[in-house]
Amino acid sequence: MNSIRILLIEDEKNIFELIKYNLEKEGFKITWAEDGKKGLEIFLKEKPDLVLLDLMLPEMDGMEVCRRMRAKTGFSVPIIMLTARSDEIDKILGLEMGADDYITKPFSIRELTARIKASLRRLQPEETGEKISRGELELKPEEYSATYYGHKLTLTPKEFSLLHLLCKYPGKVITREDALQKVWGYDYYGDTRTVDVHIRQIRQKMELVSPDNNPIETLRGIGYRWRG
Ligand code: CA
Repeated sequence: MNSIRILLIEDEKNIFELIKYNLEKEGFKITWAEDGKKGLEIFLKEKPDLVLLDLMLPEMDGMEVCRRMRAKTGFSVPIIMLTARSDEIDKILGLEMGADDYITKPFSIRELTARIKASLRRLQPEETGEKISRGELELKPEEYSATYYGHKLTLTPKEFSLLHLLCKYPGKVITREDALQKVWGYDYYGDTRTVDVHIRQIRQKMELVSPDNNPIETLRGIGYRWRG
């Protein structure tokens, strides 16, 4: 089996060395770029399987790098942001940026490895299952495509999987823990706010198409439900 290739874009050499040492032990192959511009160049040339992207970088910051990666290649490559700023979570996971996940510094290598594995564990079509229609919404898992009132919704893979999970069980409460486990992976350590941010993004995208409908119901402190 070929090793999974990870591109790490990080300007602090000691963090790079720590990550490289530990991820190589896990069998990953690591390429390093020390600024945003170089990182983007290497990304386009080498097409890594996953990107670890620091937020604060010289030349071009992590948000801009992420945006450009998405503009070039869509959402097929998982991008995990490394950040010291938890106040940036909304933006990081947001519409324009489209990172799959974030991890706040300082983090443990164990946590980082778990996040990487969870991000690489794409939901397979047989897991996400069959095509689903709920009212004016149609989801096709094999294409990660969603149409709503005949309009295409541009969803990230995580947003798609989360919406699919809700629609699969209309009327049933999906707790935020359920969602983390099913969409982000079983050993995901993340906080449940990740789910809230993704739900907000999905709602915004659906509201652009149909402002008066809110088919996703919030159950305060518990989770979400597709009004079935
Ligand atoms: Ca930095």
